[in-house]
Amino acid sequence: MAGILFIISAPSGSGKSTLVSELRKQVSGVDFAISWTTRAPRGSEANGREYNFTSREEFQRMLDAGVFLEHAQVFGHYYGTARQSLEEARAAGHDLLLDIDVQGAAQVRAKLPEAVSIFIMPPNPKALRTRLRNRSRAEGVVIEAEVYRRLSEASKEIENYREYGYILVNDILDRAVAQLEAIVLAERFFRNGEVIAHRSHRVLEVAAACLQSNSQERLKPVLEAFGIFGNTGQQMFNFDDDSDEDDSDNDDDNDEVPQ
Ligand code: ADP
Ligand code: 5GP
Repeated sequence: MAGILFIISAPSGSGKSTLVSELRKQVSGVDFAISWTTRAPRGSEANGREYNFTSREEFQRMLDAGVFLEHAQVFGHYYGTARQSLEEARAAGHDLLLDIDVQGAAQVRAKLPEAVSIFIMPPNPKALRTRLRNRSRAEGVVIEAEVYRRLSEASKEIENYREYGYILVNDILDRAVAQLEAIVLAERFFRNGEVIAHRSHRVLEVAAACLQSNSQERLKPVLEAFGIFGNTGQQMFNFDDDSDEDDSDNDDDNDEVPQ
């Protein structure tokens, strides 16, 4: 059975890694492409698990040798997906999930238009700031300048949301995980005729509601909060104060948000 290629993009700190790891606990047969990067490992990251960490020289050598399906520079570092990840998933008949930025996603869509693309948005800038701070804190140190750099980059990335087939707003974690799972199961059903084991109508409804074409009303407050209207829009965030949002209230069942 042909595997499906899923592209997931999101501004840094939106909760993409959390969602992907929850999805992979619940749905089997989804491989994750471990990217190559020139950035240094963060926190508990291990070489070959979250990323393959490498030097700029080695990355350039691989690039020249045509190793990458796509690559991009993000926050001053290089990132790339090896073609081999796709070949291995295809050979195993597995779906493959790429966690890549908006530039890489555009390259993959141009080469493989059949890919399913999913964009994950944080609910608002303040929640994103809290998540960026929490993640940095868990990794040892919060550098506010880095948090604000990622926040201002977030709006630019969100402006590309129209390029994606599905849009998730990661507000309540359990709901966003269920939506991501529904998208994977619905695509397997439509493309491969794979039977959905439980509550198939509900699963298809949830996935359909996440289609970008059905999301305008749902996205309006998020786009407004990030200062994005129409095709253009750059913004300055006007936070009322410097305090964090109580993001944990958003997750009814899990006080501890899994990493
Ligand atoms: P990304 O991979 O998009 O950069 P992470 O998955 O590392 O983001 O999440 C950033 C931080 O936000 C982590 O501390 C994570 O536990 C937290 N987080 C993720 N999703 C939610 C959510 N729905 N509600 C509250 N916190 C969340
Ligand atoms: P981080 O360094 O926070 O893990 O990731 C920073 C950004 O790089 C995220 O938007 C992530 O999706 C993106 N990224 C990670 N791996 C790749 C990759 O292989 N290719 C591209 N284009 N972007 C990647």
